[in-house]
Amino acid sequence: MKKIIIAMDGHSSCGKSTMAKALAKKIGYTYIDTGAMYRAVTLYAMRRGFIGKDGIDEESLRRELPQINISFGHDSEGLQYTILNGENVERQIRGMEVSGNVSPISAIGFVREAMVELQREMGKTGAIIMDGRDIGTTVFPNAELKIFVTASDEIRARRRFDELTVKGESPVYEEVLKNVRERDYIDSHRAVSPLRKADDAIVLDNSNMTFEEQDQWLMEQYLKAAKD
Ligand code: C5P
Repeated sequence: MKKIIIAMDGHSSCGKSTMAKALAKKIGYTYIDTGAMYRAVTLYAMRRGFIGKDGIDEESLRRELPQINISFGHDSEGLQYTILNGENVERQIRGMEVSGNVSPISAIGFVREAMVELQREMGKTGAIIMDGRDIGTTVFPNAELKIFVTASDEIRARRRFDELTVKGESPVYEEVLKNVRERDYIDSHRAVSPLRKADDAIVLDNSNMTFEEQDQWLMEQYLKAAKD
C-alpha cells in the first residue's frame, strides 16, 4: 500500500472528523483536525479582546499571530486534544461562543496563510488524513484521495446538538441550526480559499447513512486510492 494524503472537506457538522478519526485509527494514519486550529486562533482572539461588537481588531491579531502556538496531544485513551500555547483548550474551542466567531476569523487572509503553512508542515510526511474546508483545493491540491462530505442542514444541526448535549452544554436546536447555516455561508463566500468541492473530489452525502456504512464506504475509497 502507498502512503497517501487523504483530504476530507465539506460542510459544518457532517461528521467528517468522526469518520476521519475512525479510519486513521484503523490504518495507522495521523489525523489532523484543521478546524480545531482555526478554533484555537479564535479562542485566542476572544480572550485577548480582539473580537468586539464592531468587528475584529485585525491589526492586533496580525501582530500577535506569531505568538500563537497550536499543536495536538493525545490522552491515555488515545483521544486527540488541541493545545494552545501549552494549554489543553479542547473543551473551550468546541463551545457555541467559539463556533459563533470562528468563520469570520477563518476568512482573514493572513490567518489562513499561517494555518496552511502549518498544515503543510504537519502533513509533509504523508500517511495523514486531514479534515477541513480547503484541504483538497488549497492545502494539498495533489492529495491522492479527496472526499467532500455533506448532509442536510437539519441533520447536521441535530448531530451537533446531540454532541453538545453529551458534553454537558445546554444548546438550543434553532441556534445550532442557525450557526451551522451561517458558518457554511461565510465559509463558502469568503474571498480566500472558499469552501468548495475540488473538481476531483468524491462526494459523500451521509444524511441517511449509519456510522458503519460511512466507515465502510471510506475504507473502500482508501483501499482503491492507496493500492500500489
Ligand atoms: O471543522 P470545524 O467545524 O471545527 O471548523 C470550524 C470552522 O473553521 C469552520 O466553520 C470554518 O470557518 C473554519 N475552517 C476553515 N478551514 C478549514 C477548517 C475549518 O476555514 N480548513
